Amino acid sequence: MKVTDHIKNANGKTLFSFEIIPPKKGNSIQQLYNNIEPLMEFKPPFIDVTTSREEYLYIEKDGLLDRKITRMRPGTVGICAAIKHKYDVDTVPHVLCGGFTKEETEYLLVDCHYLGINNVMALRGDAMKHQQYFEACDGGHQFAKGLVSQIQNLNKGHYLHDVLEADDKSDFCIGVAGYPEKHIESPSLRTDLKRLKEKVDAGADYVVTQMFFDNKKYFDFVKAAKAEGINVPIIPGIKPIAVKRHLQLLPQVFKIDLPEDLIEAVDRCKTNEQVRQVGVEWAITQSKELQQAGVPVLHYYSMGKSDNVKAIASELF
Ligand code: FAD
Repeated sequence: MKVTDHIKNANGKTLFSFEIIPPKKGNSIQQLYNNIEPLMEFKPPFIDVTTSREEYLYIEKDGLLDRKITRMRPGTVGICAAIKHKYDVDTVPHVLCGGFTKEETEYLLVDCHYLGINNVMALRGDAMKHQQYFEACDGGHQFAKGLVSQIQNLNKGHYLHDVLEADDKSDFCIGVAGYPEKHIESPSLRTDLKRLKEKVDAGADYVVTQMFFDNKKYFDFVKAAKAEGINVPIIPGIKPIAVKRHLQLLPQVFKIDLPEDLIEAVDRCKTNEQVRQVGVEWAITQSKELQQAGVPVLHYYSMGKSDNVKAIASELF
C-alpha cells in the first residue's frame, strides 16, 4: 500500500515508521532482521531502506595502491523485497540521483514494480567524500526533481527511450526530502522551500524531514511550506542522540543545530548509558509534542540500532 494511503487510512492517528541502512558488503541480512524484529510490535506500516553513495576503496596490488569506486552498502531493493516478504510490511527504497544513470534508475524502478514495491524516496544524494560539490554522472539527474519527474513519467507508462505506451503501468508513491533548517547548499530557507515546491509540483506525494531537535523548527517549516503552497503530508524525522560524539557529528554531517539544553545535558553525562538515556528522553518529549500536534507519522532514524527507537516507541505507540 502507498505511504499516503496508510496516512489516509489512519484517520488522523499518528503512525510509527523507521529507517534502516543496508549491512556492509559481505555481512548477513540477519543483523538487519535482529534490529527490525524488536520494532515490529509497534506495527510500522512502512520501513525505509537507505541507499549509500559510492566511495573510494583502496586495494593493494603488487605493492601499489589501486583505487576503485564502489558502493559499500549495496542491496537496497533486495532488502526491501526481503523485509516486505518476511514481515508483510511495506518498504520504501531510497533511490538516488548520485552514481546512477537515468537508464539504471529505470531498471531499478522496473524491479521495484515487479516486486510489488510501490513507494520510493527520491533523493539527490550528497557529493562523494572527495568531491566539493555534487556531480551527476553522465546521463544522471542533477537534482531530485528530475528523478521525481522520471518516476512520474514511468507511472504514466512513459519509458525513457520507448515510443510505445506501456500496458502495465507502475503507480509509485513518491517521497522527497525537506529541510526544516534548510539544505546546506541553499542560500536561504525560502529558496529551499521553492525547490521543495518544485519537487511536489513534479509529482512528489509526501515529504520526510531531515532530523531536527527543536520542534519549533518543524512547526515553522510546516507553516512556511503551506504558505508556499505545499499541501502534501510532511513527516518529521527524529533521531535519538546515542553517543557523546553525536554532539559534533550530527551538526557537521547533517547541518543542523542542537539546542543548548540538550548539549548541556549530554555534556554532563559520565557514561554512554547516561547519554543514551538523555537522547531517548529528549526524543520522547519531542515525539509526544509532535504526536499531540497531529503529525501523520513519526519517522525514526534508527541507524541500525533498535534499542533506542524501541524505548521511545514503547512510550508512544
Ligand atoms: P535536491 O532536492 O535535489 O536539493 C539539493 C540542493 O539543490 C538543495 O540545496 C536545493 O535547494 C538545490 N536545488 C534544487 N533544485 C535546484 C535547481 N533547479 N537549481 C539550483 N539549486 C537547486 N542520502 C543518501 O545518500 N542516501 C539516502 O538514503 C538518503 N536518505 C535521506 C532521507 C531523508 C529523509 C533526507 C532528509 C535526506 C536523505 N539523504 C540521503 C541525504 C540527501 O541525499 C542529501 O541531503 C542531499 O544533499 C540532497 O538531497 P535532496 O534530495 O534533498 O536534493
